[in-house]
Amino acid sequence: MKNTPVVPPVYMTATYQFDNSDDLIDVVQNRTGFIYSRWDNPSVLAAEKKLAALEGYPHALGFGSGMAAITNTILALAPKNSRIIGMREVYGGTHEFLFDYLPRWGIDVVEVGCENPADIHDEIDKGVDLVYLETPTNPLLRVVDVADLTAHAHEKNAIVILDSTFASPVNQRPLELGVDVTIHSATKYLGGHHDITAGFACCNDILFEKIWDLRKVLGGVMDPMSAFLALRGMGTLDLRVKRQNENAMTIAHHLENHEKVEVVYYPGLPSHPDHAIAKRQMTGFGGMMSFVVESDFEGTKRVMDGLKLIKLATSLGGITTLANQPATNTHVALSPQALAEAGIKENLVRLSTGTEDVLLLIEDLEQALALA
Ligand code: PLP
Repeated sequence: MKNTPVVPPVYMTATYQFDNSDDLIDVVQNRTGFIYSRWDNPSVLAAEKKLAALEGYPHALGFGSGMAAITNTILALAPKNSRIIGMREVYGGTHEFLFDYLPRWGIDVVEVGCENPADIHDEIDKGVDLVYLETPTNPLLRVVDVADLTAHAHEKNAIVILDSTFASPVNQRPLELGVDVTIHSATKYLGGHHDITAGFACCNDILFEKIWDLRKVLGGVMDPMSAFLALRGMGTLDLRVKRQNENAMTIAHHLENHEKVEVVYYPGLPSHPDHAIAKRQMTGFGGMMSFVVESDFEGTKRVMDGLKLIKLATSLGGITTLANQPATNTHVALSPQALAEAGIKENLVRLSTGTEDVLLLIEDLEQALALA
């Protein structure tokens, strides 16, 4: 009789012992098994296989955070003297890496806003090695036409990397849009419970070898416990995200008609500037939204402090609904001018919708908005 556990165990081991030297040499030379957990670990591999299957790529590589997945991927794939195009609206940490760190090391990085896709096309025409995209964006949920930009980048032999964290594999199919490397911060929807920090990069065989090699050297691999929790999270991903999509849509409609709300940014609303692209490109509009409170900074703070069920916290994608004021936390590194350029007002609130009863969430928002 041969049987295996339904739930793979957590392989809390740094290294692996061998019966003889020939076996060890074989594993080192041909990677036919496990040797050291900075290279590979069975728990991490199980999570990688699950995400690769969800996204449809041959491979996924697990990292210690979303930022580790992003930085390792870019460094592994940027050739010497590269020219990179990066979207201005990417996550703050990614922005810092692309536009502050990479230029320090002599890499030419061009920053282009997603407002005008023609600008991205013009920059691609000038020649490019990597195009780095993120959609939907944080916090205004801008959506770029990934298939269009990817097709053009491929004409110039560029590699396209997309951070699909906000969408999760349930709401967006990057491989079908032509994306070469799809990144997820597993800290968000994949983990889904606000209890791990982890990341993944999904890709084909050739890119996998390059990213795997650098991950081994830089050492930012996912730990076995986070891999176990990411794998468990992915088991309920579809259920959770569909519920979050529904909750977000209901809340967005409710807030859009609210006297204390100036504007709601949700790609599922026809009023959103990128609604048409989102409708074409996404299979669900997601659980993230932002809204501007009809008040000043202090009034918005009162709303945040008045929330009871919804928690005041950064991060996103988990079962618990979280709210924050991007200007004072997630985007605090931006200068007042950069905040204004990005359209991030001091009375903007970002909401990551969880899986709670939507009526309870609306009730909580109602009582808090009354304090604005
Ligand atoms: N990408 C996006 C879209 C994010 O929102 C974040 C974090 O908030 C990251 C990447 C970074 O992920 P991590 O915090 O897991 O490093």
